[in-house]
Amino acid sequence: MRLITMYKNLGEAKVEFYGCPLGCKYCAHRIREKREVTAEQVSKFVAGYDIKRIFFGGAEPALFKKDLVDIIRVMSKRGKEITLKTTGSDPEFVRATVDYVHHYIIEVKAPLDDVQGMMRLVNLDEERTKEYLANLRACLELLKGRKVRATVRVIPTVIDRDKIERLGRQLHGYVDEVQLIQFMSGMNDLPFEGISKPSPPIEEVEAMGDIMLKYVPMVILQGDGFDSTLRA
Ligand code: SF4
Repeated sequence: MRLITMYKNLGEAKVEFYGCPLGCKYCAHRIREKREVTAEQVSKFVAGYDIKRIFFGGAEPALFKKDLVDIIRVMSKRGKEITLKTTGSDPEFVRATVDYVHHYIIEVKAPLDDVQGMMRLVNLDEERTKEYLANLRACLELLKGRKVRATVRVIPTVIDRDKIERLGRQLHGYVDEVQLIQFMSGMNDLPFEGISKPSPPIEEVEAMGDIMLKYVPMVILQGDGFDSTLRA
């Protein structure tokens, strides 16, 4: 397995996998250092008696599903609370884990029918972008009724209020939380389309949060020095 990192903090183990089939142009994960570990090393790391919660994320954990599905099943049966973050590009991976994962976090980049907007972000041709979007919709169907958070990176050249409204309608009934992240406000973004500072302004992210709140029970806003939660 290839990892960016794995670490423990306050009863939680976090495992961040390396590599992602989408290859987003703004993604800082792809320039991170990587290291090889065995499935046994990962399993042993998260199995500690002091670990109550496990987060599997990264870039895309599904790339390692051959071993990871088993690890998730075993750890869930041992009573660990598992959160899995994924791009939604692999419905088989989601189907194989759905009875063992407590919370899913799904990256959603643009409205689910916005092929052109999506192609500006990901490193896929049109056919593969459409395939990815179909897979993402399939994952959301599989997870309907479960605890799911969608994370949306608000990149101002791609995401505007109209797209947030459209996305809200599409996510309604499928997710119980949406996290709107101001672009370039953390360590996970590289400059993109001329944007190298946190943007759009946080007031714009707040306005988008109000729009999204019409469709989901909870919206988390995260930006440069800013973190708040809106509830319907
Ligand atoms: S931003 Fe997310 S979906 Fe895009 S390449 Fe990075 S990990 Fe993958």
